[in-house]
Amino acid sequence: MLDRPQSERSASERPMIEIRGVTRNYGAFKALDDATVTIREGEFFSLLGPSGCGKTTLLRMIAGFDNPTSGTIVVDGQEMVGVPANRRPTNMVFQSYAIFPHLNVEQNVGYGLKRLKLDQGEEKRRVDEALAMVSLTGLGKRGAHELSGGQRQRVALARALVMRPKVLLLDEPLSALDKKLREQMQVELRRLQQAVGITFILVTHDQYEALAMSDRIAVMFGGRIAQVASPKEIYQRPVNRQVADFLGGMNFVKAEIVEENGSSITVDTLGFGRVTTEKPKAFVRNGAAATLGIRPERLRVLWDQATAKYEVSGSVVERHYFGEITHLIVDIPGLEKPLSVTETNDFGADDIPVGATIRLGYDRDALVAMAD
Ligand code: ADP
Ligand code: MG
Repeated sequence: MLDRPQSERSASERPMIEIRGVTRNYGAFKALDDATVTIREGEFFSLLGPSGCGKTTLLRMIAGFDNPTSGTIVVDGQEMVGVPANRRPTNMVFQSYAIFPHLNVEQNVGYGLKRLKLDQGEEKRRVDEALAMVSLTGLGKRGAHELSGGQRQRVALARALVMRPKVLLLDEPLSALDKKLREQMQVELRRLQQAVGITFILVTHDQYEALAMSDRIAVMFGGRIAQVASPKEIYQRPVNRQVADFLGGMNFVKAEIVEENGSSITVDTLGFGRVTTEKPKAFVRNGAAATLGIRPERLRVLWDQATAKYEVSGSVVERHYFGEITHLIVDIPGLEKPLSVTETNDFGADDIPVGATIRLGYDRDALVAMAD
């Protein structure tokens, strides 16, 4: 994975949204449990987690559609408790992008401007500007029913952008689109955010979407924030097994903590021996037991005489063909579970017979020690 190119806009250090110890109870049920996170100005920030983990609950409280049971929310330096939704510098794009069916595109986009009582020329300028941002210039007179799913999504976006919010809140905005269009809109949304430079907060349960679009991600489970970090760090240095698992496939090997200091941790394992790795930020030790993880693509097949500084060997017990990659299941003596290995097919991994003994190379920095 490459780092983002330097030319890309980066978020400032200035906090735009401060969520401080926010809890939301529904009766005895905690939909959100003591959430604390700061989102920076100009950042593309995602709330990622399985359905029901509290993402929408948090977003709605930022928007002002709901209030915390306890804790505070500060937007752009201003405490938000008691401030109604329409007085907040935020705007929401909903999951089911309900645009008005009886209005045309520009009427839909201009709807929220009516209460600002701008003069006609200014109103039209702002609508045109918003339409241009989402590549709908020239379609202003189209009826809502004459639009494709992607175009309707863009109208919903333009309707929020036209209000010039400091923060745009997006609740699973792409989930109703088919895969191809969704991927295209992901790229467009990211581009749009880079162009307008305002803070975006995206709610999604799709880990690829969050990884592809965000500057930083908060991973949530059961009302709690488990980790906040860049996509790369979340993927490569997950704080625990639950986060690792949610972000894609990972091999888990039982480990025992030998030593832990500020930035590194040493564990003993079967199969991979004694390993010292960078400690994930926010690592919380839970007794002596830990887990060592390695992603399937970080194990590579060593062909013929090829060697690697670190290798394990074992026998192929399963092989699954996926077109561009092959997925091998390799039984390693001493490991309680076989390893998952993904290999691109350019060297013929798709022809490795089940039963073959193979060697796998890896880099030490591909290993990550996690809390159980
Ligand atoms: P997500 O957006 O992550 O899928 P939500 O924030 O919508 O999850 O919901 C989190 C939890 O809170 C869920 O278990 C949901 O059923 C519950 N919940 C949400 N809104 C209410 C409500 N108005 N009354 C009772 N429970 C609610
Ligand atoms: Mg939701």
